[in-house]
Amino acid sequence: MFGIKADWSLDIQERYFTIDDYEGNEARWCDGCGDHAVLATAHRILRDAQLPPEKSVFISGIGCSSRMPHYMATYGLHGTHGRALPLACGVKSRRPELDVWVATGDGDCFSIGAGHWIHAVRYNMDMTILIFDNQIYGLTKKQTSPTSPIDLKTNTHPEGSFLDALNPLTVTLGITNASFVAQVIDWNPPLLYETLKAAHEHKGTSFVRIIQRCPVFVDGITKELQNDSSKLLLLKHHDGIPVAAGLERLFPESREHDPSDMTTALDIARDETTKGIIPVGLLYKNEDIPCYSDLSALGHDITDEDKIAATNKALDAFAI
Ligand code: SF4
Repeated sequence: MFGIKADWSLDIQERYFTIDDYEGNEARWCDGCGDHAVLATAHRILRDAQLPPEKSVFISGIGCSSRMPHYMATYGLHGTHGRALPLACGVKSRRPELDVWVATGDGDCFSIGAGHWIHAVRYNMDMTILIFDNQIYGLTKKQTSPTSPIDLKTNTHPEGSFLDALNPLTVTLGITNASFVAQVIDWNPPLLYETLKAAHEHKGTSFVRIIQRCPVFVDGITKELQNDSSKLLLLKHHDGIPVAAGLERLFPESREHDPSDMTTALDIARDETTKGIIPVGLLYKNEDIPCYSDLSALGHDITDEDKIAATNKALDAFAI
């Protein structure tokens, strides 16, 4: 591939990537599952950024959404339940040049992986976390998850779940060093694309909660939102997620929100629990927080001999 630069010299690209270069195995999610939309969006973002597939890695835990690494022709790691984030932190720490993505769900991240969620956000390593939140355990057949709404009838709570749903936005905003917190719906492709693109471009940990359709087990939850978008509150700002004028018309409710304003971000996030108003857009962004991946990468470039000498010196400290 080649083009013409501004000085009329040839701009030669040795490799040009198409969507096919990022597509892995055929996705085996159910028909109508929102995961398909997220996968297609990730393919587009990598293609548009022309990221070499061998420089990207998708890491997941366990759950329907955690099959995502199989469907990417990048490097990938399908980990153990709740452990996607520590695995991703480990990869980023040792290979900071890689483009790291995490695919995890509400069960995987907010329940068994909750401790890792807190620390990964605090580390603020440069990675993009996609939370596929369908408000149910899908893979294990309709069990109550931390974000299942109260009274939802599930196989673990046949008479209805007892507790109010966990609010992932207020929790994440409350974690020290949170640097990018956004929420989006999977059934609006332009908004999903712009949100994941902004998350990917952010230097630091980008936390994106994707409200995801699971038509097999909890069709009603997202159908209600699709039929009545007045329950969604579109957040607009020149520093937020770009929203085209045509797109804005699809959201009867919207407001200006400066994503550098943490106090208002928390108020907006809290309204989801107390008033049922579901924000979509960028709640918070802070580009000044250091990335632990930069700090942990210090010394990566020393020689093998120096590494062995340093290891021996450290071990000598325990000699008696
Ligand atoms: Fe998607 Fe639900 Fe099917 Fe899992 S069970 S693949 S979340 S539709």
